[in-house]
Amino acid sequence: MNSQTHQIQATFSWSEIDTILLDMDGTLLDKYFDDYFWEEYVPKVFARTNNLSGQEARKALLKRYQSVESTLQWTDLDFWSEQLGLNIPELKCKVDHLIQVHPYVIDFLEYLKKIGKTVHLVTNAHSKTLEIKLRKTAIGPHFDRIVCAEEIGYAKEQPEFWEKLQVMLQFDKSRTLLADDTEKVLHSASLYGMGFLLSVARPSTRLPVTYSQNYPSVAFFNELIR
Ligand SMILES: [Mg+2]
Repeated sequence: MNSQTHQIQATFSWSEIDTILLDMDGTLLDKYFDDYFWEEYVPKVFARTNNLSGQEARKALLKRYQSVESTLQWTDLDFWSEQLGLNIPELKCKVDHLIQVHPYVIDFLEYLKKIGKTVHLVTNAHSKTLEIKLRKTAIGPHFDRIVCAEEIGYAKEQPEFWEKLQVMLQFDKSRTLLADDTEKVLHSASLYGMGFLLSVARPSTRLPVTYSQNYPSVAFFNELIR
């Protein structure tokens, strides 16, 4: 059996959990927007403004992205606006029709409220990205708190992030669940000692479902409405 098609089942009971921390991009929202924006749309605009071929622009940009991967700089729209000489927030708004909430997300958020859980949105996304996404979707009012990594000063891939978040939100880590589509983020939360971890196996509508080999996964959140 292909290991990435094998799903480790989430076996926890909701009675063991008080607080749920949810990632935004890929977890609640379709990551296709972000992939398309950075890998196709920005290179296209960058090629045009710099007289490069599409392929040259794409290659140059992907290399620059990789150099700041898993850091707060990667998500900083002001950094990229300056680096690339483009108005990145304005470009995001031009393709914001691609910002979509994954199926069953609203049902899941309503369910968590109904069973009395505290639910926080915890994202590496820059405040300007967050603003665009909350304006385009109806997810915002479902959270007790919304925290951007820039407020914490670390990216979620860094274990220090979780210590600082705990001080800010006052959760009991042994009774807290984190759901995220980035394996590196789950690893850092695991090092910190987060009680429950859940991988989201279908971050983008355009990519096949890929189950984590290390953590319990769901493809859709209706799997957890029980
Ligand atoms: Mg994500």
